[in-house]
Amino acid sequence: EGFIANVSKAKALNAFLVETPDHALAAADAADAARAAGETLKPLAGVPIGMKDLFCTKGVPTTAASLILEGFVPPYESTVSANLWDAGAGMLGKLNMDQFAMGSSNETSAFGNVISPWRRSDGGNAPLAPGGSSGGSSTAVAARLCPAATGTDTGGSIRQPAAFTGISGIKPTYGRCSRWGTIAFASSLDQAGPMARDVRDCAILLEAMSGFDAKDATSLDLPVPAWEAGLSGDLNGKRIGIPKEYRVDNMPAEIDALWQQGIDWLKDAGAEIVEVSLPHTKYALPAYYIIAPAEASSNLARYDGVRYGLRDLPEGAGLQDMYAATRADGFGDEVKRRIMIGTYVLSAGFYDAYFTQASKVRTLIARDFEQAWAKCDLLLTPTAPSSAFALGEKSADPIAMYLNDVFTVPSSLAGLPAMSVPGGLDGAGLPLGLQIIGKPLDEQGVLNAGLALE
Ligand code: GLN
Repeated sequence: EGFIANVSKAKALNAFLVETPDHALAAADAADAARAAGETLKPLAGVPIGMKDLFCTKGVPTTAASLILEGFVPPYESTVSANLWDAGAGMLGKLNMDQFAMGSSNETSAFGNVISPWRRSDGGNAPLAPGGSSGGSSTAVAARLCPAATGTDTGGSIRQPAAFTGISGIKPTYGRCSRWGTIAFASSLDQAGPMARDVRDCAILLEAMSGFDAKDATSLDLPVPAWEAGLSGDLNGKRIGIPKEYRVDNMPAEIDALWQQGIDWLKDAGAEIVEVSLPHTKYALPAYYIIAPAEASSNLARYDGVRYGLRDLPEGAGLQDMYAATRADGFGDEVKRRIMIGTYVLSAGFYDAYFTQASKVRTLIARDFEQAWAKCDLLLTPTAPSSAFALGEKSADPIAMYLNDVFTVPSSLAGLPAMSVPGGLDGAGLPLGLQIIGKPLDEQGVLNAGLALE
């Protein structure tokens, strides 16, 4: 009830698009009843969770923060949310986000910016970006509106907002969390994951969210390890790789210092530090910004005014006019930009030059990581090249916005588990995140290194 009251008091942050207090209360009541009956409690009994509005929730409006899904009420539940409810959790509400998860600042939402609860300490009271695309999730957790939230990560959307708001978030290995019922952005990259105050909470949530699902053709048919029980901050015998290509030009000295601090903390926990090379890193961002829009242009073709949400049918208009009017009014500018880029790079004349080339680069990036694993067990990098920027600072310049994803995109292209944990504050008192990247299926290693950094 405390959380429900706080959510309704914190409207100025614009983190929640829909509030669902009854859902959260029903879970709390079920937990109380189980406790009274002396039953063993489920792992998330009564825990109120914020759901990113990319997850379809039965009977609760789901928009992906786009006008094109206005009025859409899913008749089904996403596998990830169903798994959470099975584990005893309840839903506090649906969280704001970048439209269709495209963005790094939450500014592409059709329902307004989310405002980070953080402010610079060095004067200048400008509202800050909460990161994106899971900006409602990062803000809701950082402002203590909910103990945990779900996010999705296609190229960094769990890790970067976690870093910007001083919380933890993990993107598991591609295929750990079912994509069924999660609105698709780029299907070969999209992964759900938890965002929470600490590493232990992330482990508990991820365990509940993960698992094989026959309804998702790319779901991994593997048991879910007991990540929470396996948590240990002891890194003796672990080799941590420092990829030299992540020392990018113009990186603020504070980020470099944070990285060094992280290295020292991991050494203290018993790890051995080795330098490694991921030579194709600089091609990851351009490859991502071809592959992700290409897949998005295909996935978003379904929003045509016929099947879901918005339908603009001007008087006397034909089918084509309805498509055009619905899409013109329903999609935001960034979504239109991605659809146009995606359609272009997939078009007959340019397919080989762009999409095929980007797919080859993706393979080289995955190979870089495979070669690095011969020398180390985990990688440590900063999560983002800066702390939170002001709202509006990058919104007119898509390239500047895309550059913020430089450290998170390579592991997404390779499908690897990766986590951001808070590393400290910069000179302006703003949180900075450290990223740990692991081998395929080594969420345990990632979580353990995260614990050592906490
Ligand atoms: N910022 C990246 C993009 O705009 C990543 C988004 C995401 O991971 N969903 O595509």
